[in-house]
Amino acid sequence: MIETDVAILGGMAGISAGISCRRHYPDKKVTLIRKEGTVLIPCGIPYIYGTVGNPENNVIPDGLLESSGLDLIKGEAVDVNRESKIVTLADGETIRYEKLVFATGSGPMIPPIPGVDKKNVFPVRKEFDYLGILLEKVNEARDIVIIGGGFIGMEFADECKKGRDANITIVEMLPHCLQMAMDDEYCDEAQARLQETGVNIMVNERVEALLGDETVTGVKLASGKELKADLVILGIGAVPHTDLAKKTGLELGFRNMIKVDRHMRTLSDPDIFACGDCAEKVSFFDGRPVGVMLASIATAEARIAGANLYSPTHRTVGTISVFSTVINGRAFGVAGLTERIVKQTGMSVVVTTAEAPDTHPGGMPMSAKTKVKLIFAKDTGIILGGSISGGKSVGEMTNVLSACIMHNMTANDMVMFQMGTHPALTASPIMYPIVNAACKAVIPLRGMSNIV
Ligand SMILES: Cc1cc2nc3c(=O)[nH]c(=O)nc-3n(C[C@H](O)[C@H](O)[C@H](O)COP(=O)(O)OP(=O)(O)OC[C@H]3O[C@@H](n4cnc5c(N)ncnc54)[C@H](O)[C@@H]3O)c2cc1C
Repeated sequence: MIETDVAILGGMAGISAGISCRRHYPDKKVTLIRKEGTVLIPCGIPYIYGTVGNPENNVIPDGLLESSGLDLIKGEAVDVNRESKIVTLADGETIRYEKLVFATGSGPMIPPIPGVDKKNVFPVRKEFDYLGILLEKVNEARDIVIIGGGFIGMEFADECKKGRDANITIVEMLPHCLQMAMDDEYCDEAQARLQETGVNIMVNERVEALLGDETVTGVKLASGKELKADLVILGIGAVPHTDLAKKTGLELGFRNMIKVDRHMRTLSDPDIFACGDCAEKVSFFDGRPVGVMLASIATAEARIAGANLYSPTHRTVGTISVFSTVINGRAFGVAGLTERIVKQTGMSVVVTTAEAPDTHPGGMPMSAKTKVKLIFAKDTGIILGGSISGGKSVGEMTNVLSACIMHNMTANDMVMFQMGTHPALTASPIMYPIVNAACKAVIPLRGMSNIV
């Protein structure tokens, strides 16, 4: 039997929880138990098929564990005895813990479509060898159909097209790709950018069946259309890995995620914590459960879980949902609520937009036009969300918006935002689009309570 103070079941969020625990409690022995031999950078998976080139170039090195003082055991946990505090692995090895963290993550959602189990149908699994096989299939394929136009499907299409002349089609059942994450105008822009690469996009189309005998040869749509396909990639969402948590007697909540409090402690056992895709999340805005699964949220939760294992010091404010992607060189980011979501909830809001080149002068090489949209609550003037498209700076500008949202900044606060600017690195201080969009909101918001 192996003895440890803290046992963590997981990969990426597991590493973050372990590092956080060692920072806060350097005398504790922390053991990461991991099913996968090699941990991939999950967000880098689409880039294996283009920019990065292979799974080997997209891994989190185990050296990070060593340098952070974490022990590693490779194996699948199949049982947890909460009375004796013992984890049993598939090979019979046992580990006794004081504190246990579930960071067992998620896997792809597999839709109940007839033919989904045929050869050459690939849900996107975060597994090293499996993704290597998928790379061989992508290299051989002539007709690739990607089911799902979310950011995974869009990024896969963009990357698979690089250096290949295969026919690539995305089938999306909603009116727009990326619709779950972005407003229509940004979805349109992203779709147009992807279509420029030669990727075919079919929206408002539902897949009815995958055709072929043993191996997939085509995709049948509910509209009656049929597409040729020698490879199908599924990117339609993720489901949490919580079978072991359920067997352990931990309470599951929204969409079968493990129920946790704001300290990331399970509601069922004070010595068991959960974080990442397997743990339930609540919205920053209304405290209701949300199904967002992102690496950035997973690691934030992991830092909280690791810090709280022996003394509850950190607390999550809830999930803001900050996300960015890049399609054919154009970046898109959203922090907080979109206009679509606020309209659905009936909230009264002020929406403003601003545009500016991300260098000054705008004629600098590699300059890109940045488009910002901000949404403020009409009664308080507090920012609820922001969307941006543009060049590389979109990634960090979206993160700036997240900080504004997290700290309940008003349009007035944002007008006074002191940004650093540089001709080659940012928009001009006169045109800085986040500030200019905030400035445009001040007059419509004036006269509301709390707003002067
Ligand atoms: C293609 C793709 C692209 C993505 N891009 C982005 C992006 O750009 N930005 C972003 O924020 N998010 C992105 N995500 C989402 C992100 O990958 C997840 O939110 C993140 O992986 C969650 O991390 P996690 O550690 O909670 O879970 P996982 O990454 O799922 O890790 C869980 C680990 O636990 C292990 N495990 C499970 N059960 C056991 C067990 N019983 N015993 C031992 N080990 C076990 C698994 O083998 C795995 O290694 C993307 C996801 C995909 C699939």
